Amino acid sequence: MSSKTLPVVIVGGGPVGLLAAHIFDKLGQDFLLLEQHHNLTPDIGACIGMSGPTLRIIDQLGMWDAFEPLINRMCDKISFTQAGDIIHSGSIFYVNEKRFGYKTAIFQRHSLLQTLYDSLSESSKQRILVNKKVVAIDIKEESVSVRCSDGTEVEGSIIVGADGSQSAVRECTKELARKTSSESKAFGNNEAFRTTYRLLFGSAPRFGDTKPATVYECHRFGSSTQVFVGEEKMWFFLYEELDKPTSEHRSYTQKDADEFAARYADHRVTKDLFFRDVYKGRSSSGVTDLEEGLLDQWWWNRIVLVGDAAHKVTPNAGLGFNSGVQDLAVIANGIRRLQNKGGSLHDNEAIKALFSQYQNERMESMKTFSNLSAKTTRLCAWHSRFGMIWDRYVAPALNLELLMSRYIVAPIIANSFVLDWLPEPHHRTGSIPWKMGPNHNLTDETH
Ligand SMILES: Cc1cc2nc3c(=O)[nH]c(=O)nc-3n(C[C@H](O)[C@H](O)[C@H](O)COP(=O)(O)OP(=O)(O)OC[C@H]3O[C@@H](n4cnc5c(N)ncnc54)[C@H](O)[C@@H]3O)c2cc1C
Repeated sequence: MSSKTLPVVIVGGGPVGLLAAHIFDKLGQDFLLLEQHHNLTPDIGACIGMSGPTLRIIDQLGMWDAFEPLINRMCDKISFTQAGDIIHSGSIFYVNEKRFGYKTAIFQRHSLLQTLYDSLSESSKQRILVNKKVVAIDIKEESVSVRCSDGTEVEGSIIVGADGSQSAVRECTKELARKTSSESKAFGNNEAFRTTYRLLFGSAPRFGDTKPATVYECHRFGSSTQVFVGEEKMWFFLYEELDKPTSEHRSYTQKDADEFAARYADHRVTKDLFFRDVYKGRSSSGVTDLEEGLLDQWWWNRIVLVGDAAHKVTPNAGLGFNSGVQDLAVIANGIRRLQNKGGSLHDNEAIKALFSQYQNERMESMKTFSNLSAKTTRLCAWHSRFGMIWDRYVAPALNLELLMSRYIVAPIIANSFVLDWLPEPHHRTGSIPWKMGPNHNLTDETH
C-alpha cells in the first residue's frame, strides 16, 4: 500500500523536536516537523545545559564544531542565604568534567535553537512546516493523521509528540484512548501535570562581582535564585513557590513579570548583587509556570511522546532537555534495528515492540531524575523548616551534593544511551567509564 512511504510526523520544533529532525535525517527516514509558531528560533528563555551524553550525541550528529565555540563552561557552584552566609561552595561541575571528560556546557536557549536549525541539511529544512498548530489526531489501520488549526491534514507512519509540557499530542491521545474503551486504562489516566513553582527567567550582560564559570544560588523560604555566569553573559532564574499547587496553566504578561521582579527586588543573587540590579540590567526576561509530571505511559498505538510532553521536571538540576535527548536516542536505535531487519514503521507489532522497549529503557532513570529535580527545587526554595535545616546544615556537613552526584546521578550518566550506529569523532573519557558506545557496550556489563 502507498502508506509504506509515509513520513514520521514530529510535532513541536523546540530543542527536542529539532534534534529529532537531525536524527531522522541521519536515519534516512522521511519526516515532517510541524511547529505551531511562525518562528522556530525565538529569543525566549534563558539558558539550557547540555550534559556529557547530550554532547556525545551532538558530536555523532556532526554538530560538534558548530556547538563547541558556543559553550559556556561551568565549574563552580556557591550557595548562600539572604544574609550572605555561605551554605556550600564547591566545584561540582568541574568534578563532573573530570569524571566524564565533557565540560558542563551552558547555552543561551536562543543560540541552541538557532544552531540546531542552521545545522540541518537543506532537505531537512524543507520538511519543517511552521504556523502548523496540531489540534487533532486520528489513528488508521497502519498509519496516523494529524489536523492543524488552519485545516492542514498530514498523514504519517508514526507521530513523535515533542510538543512540550502543554502537549496537544498527549491530550489528543488521551481522548483517542478513552474512545477505544478496551484500552481506556492504557494511556493518560494518571494525574495531570501540576505546578507548584513559577519562574522568572532572563539574561543580562555579565556585570558586578560575578565570576565566569560560576553558578550562584541564594536559598530562602519559598523562593530561590540561580545565576549562571558565562564570560560575557549571565542567565538568571528566580523560583517562587505558589500559595497552592495547581493543574491550570497560566500565561504571564510583562506587567506580571515586573511585579514578580519587584516582589523580590531585595533578593540577594551574589555577595554584592541583588535581584533588582540583575533585572534592571537584563536584555530579556519572561515568566513561566513550572509544571511537573511523569506520565505512566509514554506511547499509545502509533503515537509516542518524548521530552517535556512525557516527563516535565523543574530546571534546577538541568535534566529537562538532556532527558528528552535520551528519549530520542532510544527510539532512534530501535528504528535503526528495525531498518536493519528490513522492517517497517507501518508494522503494528514492530511499533508496539519498539515503543514499549523505549519506555522500559527510559522509565527508571526518568523517575530518579524527576524525583531529584523536585527535591532540588524544594530544598533550594526552602519548602519547610526541616528542608531549611537539611539544606543549610545537614547536606553541607555530609557533602551530600558530591555523594549524590557520584552514587545516584553518575551511574545513570555512565549508562546513558548514544546513537549506537554512528561514530563519535570527538569522544572523551574521564575517571568514570562510559558503558554505552557506538555499535557495542563499552563494558561487559549489560545495561
Ligand atoms: C519559550 C520557552 C523557553 C524556555 N526556556 C528555558 C530555559 O531558559 N531554560 C531551561 O532549562 N528550559 C527552558 N525551557 C524548557 C526547555 O526548552 C525544555 O524543558 C526542554 O528543552 C525540552 O524541550 P521540548 O522540545 O521537549 O519542549 P519545549 O521546549 O516546550 O518545545 C515544545 C515545542 O512544541 C511546540 N508546540 C507546542 N504545542 C504545539 C502544537 N499543538 N502544534 C505544533 N507545535 C506545538 C512549541 O511551540 C515548542 O516549540 C523553555 C521552554 C519554552 C517553550
